[in-house]
Amino acid sequence: MSAITNHMPTSELQALDAAHHMHPFTQGSGLAAKGARVITRAKGVWLTDSEGNEILDGMAGLWCVNIGYGRDELAEVAARQMKELPYYNTFFQTTHVPAIALAQKIAELAPGDLNNVFFAGSGSEANDTNIRMVRTYWEEKGKPEKTVIISRWNAYHGSSMGSGSLGGMVGMHAQGGMPIPGIHHIGQPNWWAEGGDMSPEDFGLMRAQELEAAIKELGENKVAAFIAEPIQGAGGVIVPPATYWPEIQRICDKYEILLIADEVICGFGRTGNWFGSQTVDIRPDIMTIAKGLSSGYQPIGGSVVSDEVASVIAGTEFNHGYTYSGHPVASAVALENLRILEEEKIVDQVRDVTGPYLKGKWEALADHPLVGEAKIVGMMASIALTPDKASRAPFAADAGTAGFICRERCFANNLVMRHVGDRMIISPPLVISETEIDTLIERARTALSETLDSLEEKGLM
Ligand code: PMP
Repeated sequence: MSAITNHMPTSELQALDAAHHMHPFTQGSGLAAKGARVITRAKGVWLTDSEGNEILDGMAGLWCVNIGYGRDELAEVAARQMKELPYYNTFFQTTHVPAIALAQKIAELAPGDLNNVFFAGSGSEANDTNIRMVRTYWEEKGKPEKTVIISRWNAYHGSSMGSGSLGGMVGMHAQGGMPIPGIHHIGQPNWWAEGGDMSPEDFGLMRAQELEAAIKELGENKVAAFIAEPIQGAGGVIVPPATYWPEIQRICDKYEILLIADEVICGFGRTGNWFGSQTVDIRPDIMTIAKGLSSGYQPIGGSVVSDEVASVIAGTEFNHGYTYSGHPVASAVALENLRILEEEKIVDQVRDVTGPYLKGKWEALADHPLVGEAKIVGMMASIALTPDKASRAPFAADAGTAGFICRERCFANNLVMRHVGDRMIISPPLVISETEIDTLIERARTALSETLDSLEEKGLM
């Protein structure tokens, strides 16, 4: 058989894809019938597909390509590292320069005394590490009964058995025997969908206090940690009311519960600071990192751990690790990515220039008849679609019907926006320019109007 290349007709690539490639989070037969869109190359914020369409990637891949596509420096670093030392492990009393240098750099960037890094290959793996690390910590502290980890419904922490159990996605829990024991979920601070008649502030406080109620119910001596994303991503870019995080921090402090901030999306500039924990002003004991750490150019993740937790873990043999923990090529590429983020002042740019610019345009989308709230922090944003803004009503049709139509209309207008139910979300590369933001907003408005037409035609409004 001849080589499979970008030059083959799209239909042939789609047929081969359907025949052999199983897609994550996808109904395979439906996709096979439709044919997957084939992405062939990318530069900056722009994707090119096999039909030659230029698509604005409003999601930075899966929230990860923070420095944008096509930075040759990363390719060059990868090639150099592969020639010098393509692989070695860090299990058996060995180390190497890329892992040392990357850990040192992360410690420098991370807030407080988060000075220690345990590497993984992904966010899911890092959260699995966290489950075992916090339980081991309490075991070593002479409190082996502190094992329960509290998390939130509609959180996303990964797709492995451990991380998927930490997550609060009911559709995921329904398949394959999740959640594992020892995980307890409380409500999310999603005022738009669940706040009823309460003010956002009161609702935020109430949802935070569910943590205190859960600790009392489970027993203070049983709870090891609380895990949450500073701003929920895959749950729909849910920005918590301002009252939420201070109360969570108070409760974690009061009951000696370790706080794990899942920074897989929020980390490395997404919220306009290096970490989302800085944006929402919390002091985590552990941060989960991945995605923007390497801008997605290499698979790498990790747990950034406080001096206190790391020193306790260091007292025992932690029987845990991955073949690719601290992979030299991934580490070297991540380090180069951090150099670019820092030297080109990309995080400052998001905080001071492009973030505020996008915020103005994004919040103005709330004037569209289909849009209820428009929320944004840095370069992650969402809009809630609704048939009635005043009552925040959901659509009569199944949740996600309107969102799916809007997603398809975005795609047809060469814009990648994602839908979570009937919420539309974006998370563009941090290097998006003001002109590109204008294009994004223009296409989003067109897609919203086409969605409105389509909903009216179908009698769903
Ligand atoms: N945590 C969060 C907050 C995430 O958004 C994700 C991925 N979307 C993960 C963990 C899992 O990361 P990975 O897909 O790299 O395993």
